Amino acid sequence: MDRLVLWDIDRTLVAVGIGREIYTAAFTAATGRPLEVLPDFGGRLDRDLVQETLTVHGVPVTEQRLATFFGAMVSGYHRRAAEVRRRGRALAGAREALGALAAVAGVVQTVVTGNIRPVAVAKLTAFELHEPIDFEVGGYGCQDRVRATLVRRAYQQAQDKYGRRVATERVVVVGDTPYDIAAARAVGVRSIGVATGSASAAALTAAGADLVLADLAKTAALLEFVL
Ligand SMILES: [Mg+2]
Repeated sequence: MDRLVLWDIDRTLVAVGIGREIYTAAFTAATGRPLEVLPDFGGRLDRDLVQETLTVHGVPVTEQRLATFFGAMVSGYHRRAAEVRRRGRALAGAREALGALAAVAGVVQTVVTGNIRPVAVAKLTAFELHEPIDFEVGGYGCQDRVRATLVRRAYQQAQDKYGRRVATERVVVVGDTPYDIAAARAVGVRSIGVATGSASAAALTAAGADLVLADLAKTAALLEFVL
């Protein structure tokens, strides 16, 4: 490994049409109550989101309840995998970008995502984007409430696994929200903002992204920046 790419998932690589429905069902499974207030999802970590959602509904947050909630989300994605494929999609250029980087020797690709690991795997597998990704060294939304911590952890885990020091300028976070960009900056690695989520290109530039792309179909620009 001499370069590391840390991919965000939602609205960067894929749009999953039924994420909110599965989240809502998981809330009811974990609490026995209907969800009344949907949180603002973009760029946030599942642990943070679930804690906030429980608190807003007056439900005490315990490790047991978080585990039940996460378990219900995982089974939701597994049970409704066909529906995820039908109603969601891989975003333009995602497959090509992953494939182009996978073809370069020394590039390791993993995820830093708000999703918990089994959901991250389920989402990318649904659209057959999983193969270039080393999920073992990724950062996931159940591990912390702060995204920069996930970037730092994935960076460290990749170096440990592959037995190589990789300089910060050879590490790139790719994401669709200012949260992704801020996390990269906090760790001192580079970032690409992709304007396929709710944040505009201007907002990603303002957040400090080193490169901003309208979408991943700009494969050549992405490749040139990473390499
Ligand atoms: Mg995202």
